[in-house]
Amino acid sequence: MTEEKTIFKRIIDKEIPAKIVYEDDLCLAFHDVSPQAPVHVLIIPKTTELRSLDDVAPKDEALIGHIFVVIQRLARELGIAENGYRVVSNCGVNACQTVPHLHFHLIGGRGFSWPPG
Ligand code: AMP
Repeated sequence: MTEEKTIFKRIIDKEIPAKIVYEDDLCLAFHDVSPQAPVHVLIIPKTTELRSLDDVAPKDEALIGHIFVVIQRLARELGIAENGYRVVSNCGVNACQTVPHLHFHLIGGRGFSWPPG
């Protein structure tokens, strides 16, 4: 049985539109459709192997490192690096993950509180 594509895989395959801000062979970054801050971008690996951070294995070290270098560059390009930003990866039910494709939220442009809700 073939698993149904997630919404993010459909964005990767350009089946549905997204406001893409960065793309390379390994990852894709696009604006979140429901932004929680003035800047809210999602960065995702193109592989569908990783449903969440919990699936990441030692073989993925280079990919995850690459994604974080991209996140840092995007934060600078999107003008949120100077005042600070937050990177979030919701993993599993308790963290309210809704899309089963590993993703990192890059949010900034306003102050955040801690602890998170
Ligand atoms: P999470 O709750 O951590 O799984 O995050 C999923 C995120 O994907 C949410 O912030 C949604 O607003 C976002 N999202 C869902 N569908 C789309 C879409 N078609 N384009 C952009 N962002 C989306």
